[in-house]
Order: sequence, then structure tokens, then C-alpha cells
Amino acid sequence: MGELDGSVAVVTGGASGMGAAMVATFVEEGARVVVADLDEDRGSMLAKELGDDARFLRTDVTRESDVAAALATAVDEWGGLDVLCNNAGFGGARGPLESISEDDYDITFDVLVKSVFFGLKHATEPMRRRGGGSIVNTASVAGLQAGEAPHLYSVAKAAVIHLTKTAALELGEHGIRVNAICPGVITTPLAVGRPHPTDEQFAKFRERVGPYQPIGRVGEPDDIAQAALYLASPRSGFVTGTSQVVDGGAFAGRSWSRQNRTMTGAAPIRMYRPPGR
Ligand code: NAD
Repeated sequence: MGELDGSVAVVTGGASGMGAAMVATFVEEGARVVVADLDEDRGSMLAKELGDDARFLRTDVTRESDVAAALATAVDEWGGLDVLCNNAGFGGARGPLESISEDDYDITFDVLVKSVFFGLKHATEPMRRRGGGSIVNTASVAGLQAGEAPHLYSVAKAAVIHLTKTAALELGEHGIRVNAICPGVITTPLAVGRPHPTDEQFAKFRERVGPYQPIGRVGEPDDIAQAALYLASPRSGFVTGTSQVVDGGAFAGRSWSRQNRTMTGAAPIRMYRPPGR
């Protein structure tokens, strides 16, 4: 028995990275999934690989009609909607404040925030008809703490975290749960900074970034897919309005013993023990 047997899901940004891992995991766990993405090549290839339980629909999440169509496809093809992952994203505008144009601002917020709003808006009715559902928004640790990513990306992800809470409060009475995942550094094209990284580029990224993570390795798309599976499944039935950090410990802070060694060059301080103990 799969954890999502009989469920119907939509994953935006499902053609690549953590979205693609969510799609594959959900299908493995018994769900049927609409892959909603701009990338036709990767999206249709993934759906083909997964067979009858996946459909690709070219979707631009900045367009309300496209998001509505992706959710309607789930209902038309498979009779309802149980899970929505609002996951599509990109790096957004970079650089100092004075260099960011109004267009940069608009497209960053359209892709990262407006898309989530459209998903919430159009998932409510089909989920209500089903007696409930689960919505999982991909935010970021950058939405919890400044300085982890460029200005607008950080602010947009903070907005996603807050929208997750406001939506959870409104939709709880319909049995619809809304949660966010805040990934740390995950090995995807977005993090590597190339649309189609080679295996070698992925390997170099892991080698460079892994040692900086408290857990000693960089995150993988499947780490996020497993968190999404938990939030999508009935196992998290009493969990709503939360933001789940999945970052290998990076957001827990800086290790005291390592800081102490760095600052003084000395060995880590040992615990004080009173004489005789
Ligand atoms: P990715 O580049 O592998 O995947 C992002 C997907 O979103 C792509 O398939 C892309 O085509 C799609 N997309 C972009 N704009 C779209 C649009 N307008 N309409 C439809 N689809 C669109 O990147 P990823 O790292 O898997 O990113 C997934 C989510 O995770 C994003 O929301 C991102 O901000 C977030 N995130 C990533 C990291 C990380 O380290 N990789 C960390 C924290 C949060």
C-alpha cells in the first residue's frame, strides 16, 4: 500500500529539481500527478517515463488561467484534487537595491508569490468537494532569515511563509491543510546556477557546498520530496500552518565549538566540572 494510494496531485515546477522528485515519489506512493511546468521537454519526458499515472501540462504559473487549467486537468482526468504542491520558482532579481527595475520586481513576485496565491485560490473548491486536501508550498530558509539569498527572493519567500499561515487559518474548517517547506541548499539546476547542469557540475557543487552543512552533505531533491510526502499524506493530518525547515541543520546556527576554535585558534572549551567530580 502506498501512502498516497488513490490520491490526485498537481505539482507546479514538477519538471525539474525538487518538483520532479516530488512527482516521482508521489507516483511511487500510489498518486496520479499533473506535472505543471513551463519546460515542455523535461516535463513531458518525465510524464512519459512515469506512464499513465502522470500527465504533463504546459503551465505558466504567473497566469491565473494556466494554474486554474492545471488543477482542472486533475479533476477532469482523475475525478478530483487531493494535493497541490506550489513549487515552481527561480532565483529572481539579483544585485543591489538601486539596480533592480520595476519589471524585475514584478516578475520575481509573480513567479514566487502570485503563483502560490493562484494555486490556493483555485485548489479550494475542488478540495472542499473532496472533503479536504493538502497544499504544500515551497518557500525557503531565505524567507526566515535575511542574508541567505537576494533581496526580493528573500522577501517573496517570507511572503509565501505568511500566506501559508493565513490560508491555513481560512481553509482549516474545510479540512484543507496548508504547510510550507523551507529547504536549505539543495542540489538542483537552480542552486547550481545552470539550466541543465552536467553530472560533473552537480558533483563539483556537492563537493564545494557539502562541507559547510552541519550534516556534512548538501541536500538532494529527494530530501524535500520526502518532506512533501509527509505533509501531503494523512500522517500529517493534524499539521497545518507550519513551515518545515529541511536544511541539514544549517539554520540551527553556527556550532559553538567550531566558532570558539576559529576565534581563538584553541581547542574547543571543555565542560566545567567542579573539583572532585
Ligand atoms: P529547478 O530550477 O530545478 O526547478 C524549478 C522549476 O520551476 C523548473 O522546472 C522551471 O521550469 C519551473 N518554473 C519556473 N518558472 C515557472 C513558471 N513561470 N511557470 C511554471 N513553471 C516554472 O529549481 P528547484 O531548486 O527545484 O526549485 C523548486 C523550488 O524550490 C523553487 O520555488 C525554489 O525557489 C525553491 N528553493 C530552492 C532551493 C535550492 O537550493 N535549490 C532552496 C530553497 C528553495
